[in-house]
Amino acid sequence: MTKHDSLINGKWQKLGDYKPNINPSDTEDVIGEYSYGDASSVEAAVAAAKSAQEAWRNSTPQQRFDLLDAVGNKLAERSKEIGAFLSREEGKTLAEGVGETMRASQVFKFHAGECLRQVGDLQASTRPDIDVETTREPVGVVGLITPWNFPIAIPAWKIAPALAHGNCVILKPADLTPGCAHIIAELLVECGCPNGVFNLVMGRGSTVGEALISHPDVDAISFTGSVATGRHIAEVCGKQLKKVQLEMGGKNPMVVMNDADLSIAVPACINGTFFSTGQRCTASSRLIVEAGVHDEFVDAMTKAMSNLKIGDALDPSSHIGPVVDEKQLLSNLKYVDLARSEAAEVIGGQRLELGKNGFFQAPALFLGTDNAMRINQEEIFGPCGSVIKAAGFEEAMAIANDTPFGLTAGICTSSLKTAREFKRQADVGMVMVNLPTAGVDYHVAFGGRKGSSFGAREQGRYAAEFYTTVKTAYCFAG
Ligand code: NAD
Repeated sequence: MTKHDSLINGKWQKLGDYKPNINPSDTEDVIGEYSYGDASSVEAAVAAAKSAQEAWRNSTPQQRFDLLDAVGNKLAERSKEIGAFLSREEGKTLAEGVGETMRASQVFKFHAGECLRQVGDLQASTRPDIDVETTREPVGVVGLITPWNFPIAIPAWKIAPALAHGNCVILKPADLTPGCAHIIAELLVECGCPNGVFNLVMGRGSTVGEALISHPDVDAISFTGSVATGRHIAEVCGKQLKKVQLEMGGKNPMVVMNDADLSIAVPACINGTFFSTGQRCTASSRLIVEAGVHDEFVDAMTKAMSNLKIGDALDPSSHIGPVVDEKQLLSNLKYVDLARSEAAEVIGGQRLELGKNGFFQAPALFLGTDNAMRINQEEIFGPCGSVIKAAGFEEAMAIANDTPFGLTAGICTSSLKTAREFKRQADVGMVMVNLPTAGVDYHVAFGGRKGSSFGAREQGRYAAEFYTTVKTAYCFAG
């Protein structure tokens, strides 16, 4: 069994006990063993990052470009092999695993370019003979805490901008998926990342995560995960006045209007609701359908669902892989029971025995639901979607916004006027017209509102808001 260690100050170190990493498509397949650290590991990693910080902030844009570009190239060159590893570790299909690895490559290459595009402003002062300069400087030592559902893309979209803007990093990946984070760490070492600039500490949230957020020498925390953990992190960081960025859950609406082209709407709803086993913060979990098209839409959805093949993530014919683990599967099944007790009609949603010890579940569609039900207010994070009937645009819009979350919202319509109004009124960070609610570009801002996000946006040029701090310098040249 291959054993994997954490990376501190450029050295691979066994920090604590090794824990097995299990394939969710086949629990007899142990991918490897990963050593879990504790608070003392965080102490060592923070000290390493702190001592590397001065040299890294003074590194040239070319040096940083070369590192990030090289990692991006390696991810692309090895995307098939790393993508298959990702699918084996997390359970998304091979196509999704390879696609996510390519996304990580693109993110590294985009931020390599950002190293060369670090600009400031030079302005005339309101007073004579004075120049005013506004520039951006690194925040310092940043702690990155990531979830299991995008085990290579989310670490990439935090690590790449952090390094590009001159910060040193400690990454704590999700305990269910340390393998992909370990691969990124290996690539950074292979591509010449200086000791201490990037550190990986694997382990539990309650020990490693907690030590990272509380450490006084960590200047900023970027977190993606659940709302409950995010709120706790905000409290701890708030007390220390530590910069914090949180990307959390979603309960994203997809509105289907009477004038929608169902050949666009149905595939968009199937993709948004069920692909990646519904384990995306941007998944469509509330399908709000205008009354005139409701029955036709439900018929088309159930037909399309019956054509979905659920199976081993590594089988190229699978459309949907397993749920990530037993705990998440049991939680999904509870929501299927809850849907019944809330008087919804349930299609699918049962546990599947596929001849392998995996965590398989049939996609679930809840019919005849209303927005006040718990199944429509709480994030399920599985392959489950609800259909809610709406009398017209105004009601659909009100339902779409009636949620504690605000990440993405979609509409399928052939009316430009309706689409425009939806874009204007949707109380979310990202709006999709005639597209699934999930699936975004890497060069533009990512993030939401209300219970979904807190702090600066991620990705694209907006990442600079979080990973830099602004300095305004006045100079009298008289
Ligand atoms: P989680 O909150 O359980 O864990 C996320 C990370 O936080 C893990 O690395 C975990 O170990 C760590 N953690 C747990 N307790 C901690 C503590 N006390 N201090 C510090 N760190 C701690 O979330 P998860 O189950 O891994 O991921 C699923 C959630 O992530 C869903 O709610 C999903 O919507 C959300 N998500 C959001 C986005 C987004 O961009 N908005 C993207 C992907 C996933």
